[in-house]
Amino acid sequence: MLRLVRPYELIKAKRDGRSLSPGAIRDFVAGYTRGALPDYQMAAMCMAIFFRGLTPVELGAWVRAMLESGEVLDLSDIPGVKVDKHSTGGVGDKVSLCLAPLAAACGVPVPMISGRGLGHTGGTLDKLESIPGFRVDLSVEEYRRMVREVGACLIGQTATLVPADKKLYALRDVTATVESIPLIASSIMSKKLAEGLDALVLDVKVGSGAFMKSLDDARKLARTMIEIGAQMNRKVTAFITDMDQPLGEAVGNALEVAEAVAVLRGKAPADLTEVTFELTAEMLILGKQAATEEEARAKLQRAVQSGSALAKLQEIVRWQGGDPRAVEDTSLLPRARAVVDVHSDSEGFVTAIDAEAIGLAAMALGAGREKVESPIDPAVGIVLRRKVGDRVTARESLAQIHYNRAQGVEDLKTRVLRAFRVGPTAPEPRPLVWERLR
Ligand code: URA
Repeated sequence: MLRLVRPYELIKAKRDGRSLSPGAIRDFVAGYTRGALPDYQMAAMCMAIFFRGLTPVELGAWVRAMLESGEVLDLSDIPGVKVDKHSTGGVGDKVSLCLAPLAAACGVPVPMISGRGLGHTGGTLDKLESIPGFRVDLSVEEYRRMVREVGACLIGQTATLVPADKKLYALRDVTATVESIPLIASSIMSKKLAEGLDALVLDVKVGSGAFMKSLDDARKLARTMIEIGAQMNRKVTAFITDMDQPLGEAVGNALEVAEAVAVLRGKAPADLTEVTFELTAEMLILGKQAATEEEARAKLQRAVQSGSALAKLQEIVRWQGGDPRAVEDTSLLPRARAVVDVHSDSEGFVTAIDAEAIGLAAMALGAGREKVESPIDPAVGIVLRRKVGDRVTARESLAQIHYNRAQGVEDLKTRVLRAFRVGPTAPEPRPLVWERLR
């Protein structure tokens, strides 16, 4: 029997900086999940948590409540060390799309519950759904079968798998309550602990396009998630990687799928390839398919060169109802009706690209949601023609906007132009991988 939840008092207590008992947290999250508590009260609670945080005891209770809102899968009957990866969210971060088939092609089973776009960042599920026919709502049975037979499956939260996160995630997205360490940590770790994995690689993003803008906050988030993993007996490695400019060149759902395919063909931008290899190499080590990073990287190279990673992506797409020809020939992915260049108005070197501004501009084109029920336009987005450190002359293209609705495009051109900083000297390169924490 659930005890009576008095939402108003709990929201007020959190708002005023008092801590909540584990029982109260369990009732609050359970009440919200089954629809007994309205969105506006959960939104108010999230805002109170945003400002007040959660104590370690409260956070443990919040994660458990989310985890227990649905089924917790046990994949121990499937051979192999099951390893997943999750990113805290970025702009142009399509790593999961190429990492899952790469790891699976190298023998690591990858059970993956992903998310949709959140705030200014894109989501793996929205990207996958830009592949014609692709389904992310498989049943648990289909998911288990794919992890066993294909070696990877990418699905979303459902009414039975972390339903609390499904609802909360969509709510936070439209109530400006995303950038909170306890809310991000509990959202990610509840999904990961529910999916039946043995080990986890976390990609904690830092910089202008990340939810964590400072290295200190990124470290705090990484440590919080490692601690939650340790309490649940899961091995977790966290990488802090750079998100001070978009990763790769493409921002927008179908555009990013095409770029992920390019990684598997060995033809993608260097930053995207490097982050993908770094994270997947760690998955191979945790999954006992390589003893050292060198061995792991050599295996990954072979999977790209032999075409086995690309074939694995096609297999995943076919199993999940998508059209595998769209992987072979990415021109079959949805395409925007029009493309316009954003030209530089000065000469020099690109010194910075505000990744959040690029993410928001892509959302305004229709690549992300303004409201919970907003539809996504899979075709639209922004392709960067210059990255930080590149030389540019006046009137050269900095970026291309792929759009379907002409209305507002002039304004978006200005926003994209303002996201770029051009100066007389090239900046010191920032590291792509800042730290690794275990
Ligand atoms: N990814 C998630 O799954 N949840 C968050 O809150 C942020 C990133």
